[in-house]
Amino acid sequence: MTCMDDSTRSRYDVVVVGGGHNGLTAAAYAARAGRSVLLLERADHVGGAAVSARPFAGVDARLSRYSYLVSLLPRRIVEELGLPITLKRRRWASYTPVGDGGLLVDTQDDAATRASFRRLTGSDADFEAWGRFYATTAEVARLLAPTLTEPLLPRATVRDLVVGGAGEAAWRTLFEEPLGEVLRATFADDVVRGVAATDGLIGTFADVDEPALRQNRCFLYHVIGNGTGDWDVPVGGMGAVSGALHDAAVAAGARIVTSAIVTAVDPGPSGVEVTWSDAAGRTRGVTAGHVLAGCAPAELERLLGVDAPASGPEGAQLKVNMLLTRLPRLRDGVDPVAAFSGTLHVNESLTQLQAAHAQAAAGRIPDLPPSEIYCHTLTDRTILGPSLAPTEAQTITLFGLHMPARLFRADPDGAREQALRATLASLNTVLAEPIEDFLALDADGAPCLEARTPVDLEGDVGLPGGHIFHRDLSWPFAESDDDAGRWGVETSHPRVLLAGAGARRGGGVSGIPGRAAAMAVLAG
Ligand SMILES: Cc1cc2nc3c(=O)[nH]c(=O)nc-3n(C[C@H](O)[C@H](O)[C@H](O)COP(=O)(O)OP(=O)(O)OC[C@H]3O[C@@H](n4cnc5c(N)ncnc54)[C@H](O)[C@@H]3O)c2cc1C
Repeated sequence: MTCMDDSTRSRYDVVVVGGGHNGLTAAAYAARAGRSVLLLERADHVGGAAVSARPFAGVDARLSRYSYLVSLLPRRIVEELGLPITLKRRRWASYTPVGDGGLLVDTQDDAATRASFRRLTGSDADFEAWGRFYATTAEVARLLAPTLTEPLLPRATVRDLVVGGAGEAAWRTLFEEPLGEVLRATFADDVVRGVAATDGLIGTFADVDEPALRQNRCFLYHVIGNGTGDWDVPVGGMGAVSGALHDAAVAAGARIVTSAIVTAVDPGPSGVEVTWSDAAGRTRGVTAGHVLAGCAPAELERLLGVDAPASGPEGAQLKVNMLLTRLPRLRDGVDPVAAFSGTLHVNESLTQLQAAHAQAAAGRIPDLPPSEIYCHTLTDRTILGPSLAPTEAQTITLFGLHMPARLFRADPDGAREQALRATLASLNTVLAEPIEDFLALDADGAPCLEARTPVDLEGDVGLPGGHIFHRDLSWPFAESDDDAGRWGVETSHPRVLLAGAGARRGGGVSGIPGRAAAMAVLAG
């Protein structure tokens, strides 16, 4: 998916800055509507944070390098663009090891899930509460998901929708009360509370009790995708999703140029001047009717020449990719297939999450880093080449929480090493065999392990502060009268629109802001 620059036009209806999956989505919609479209991508490939790669020398395993599961991509976008994407449901939602037992949430066996709750908590109370809580989020998902691909509704209208369909308490607990308070009032067990809390803390450096409710917004986006909140496995890896969007954009006539670094965006009354540097380092210019910024808002402001605010976005995760010769056994004897198929929560009780947050907020790498682990190849082995597919080899994705960029600024390499050591030691507390013993070796004899901090992601993908959502997530409705009826992509320049994760209703692999940006242009 690299594309040489043979563009000769000096004006396009639409220039898209950044070829992440959202920029590709915007390009596809605009081109299908007959607009001339040029997409400029800084890297030598498209996809942004939604890509597959072979990170280990000489090893034929194409891992989803950054993002790995799909929930927020609406079926509507898949159908409208005719994307040949296959998503697979996982049988086990999650496993959380605790001492010599653990909490297994089996989506196909309620009795097994009930028994697991009972063993862990000593009664059925939290199992029943779990069922009620997630029935409520499912109802909210059903109500809200269709609104994500329409112009913004006013807050009061969304409130009426939620209250009318899911009840007053649903609105209060999801939109008004800090997640921590809600979980303490809903569940008695610290581990059950923690498992639910993690959805509020993915890529969001917040305490569960934060009054600003960033954790609630993050939680909401994790439970409403496609009207179910299910997180599914993209067959072929995340590169298959971006690849399908790339193909849709090209088929519709969009021109996509990689190794094209946009250096300035200058809006005027009749068009926007876009300056970029091509693969040979030559400065190029083009005029756009509209610029759709698939890059982060902070990057757009830099391109517009706006002074950066004192504090920018801050990501907070350690991403570790591994290839194992086989899955390690767990201390508690649970089947590793069940434990690693869904999300394996490591040291993520509510108390542990809060302790890790407090340590990181005080400037320290947490002693016992909490993390979520998932094995792609238990569900989809197509990402392995013919020499690996028939073996017991498995790919592992580890997403470590509460690792804010500030911990890695002074000494990026030393702090990465320290964070990695602490994270693997934390994982090993639940394994019967240390993970290090199962790392496959690459062609140079080095272990197949890649760790990326927020500071690394800033350099690799251009995520400001390493923030996986470009900036903290916003509520999926208009918060001012002016915004109602708009697409949540507008900036102070009518010809410049956000098209990436930093738009309202952006964040995650969804295509929603890319489509919204194209809709805003087409409506104009
Ligand atoms: C480690 C990690 C794990 C994640 N896991 C998940 C997950 O499992 N599921 C999920 O739904 N989401 C996940 N996310 C979040 C999700 O991947 C992102 O929110 C989403 O991919 C953002 O897409 P985007 O197209 O808006 O932006 P990006 O993917 O950030 O793409 C922006 C593009 O703009 C380009 N660009 C920037 N500046 C310029 C410039 N000046 N000129 C030209 N090009 C430029 C960049 O190179 C980049 O390609 C994860 C993210 C990370 C980092």
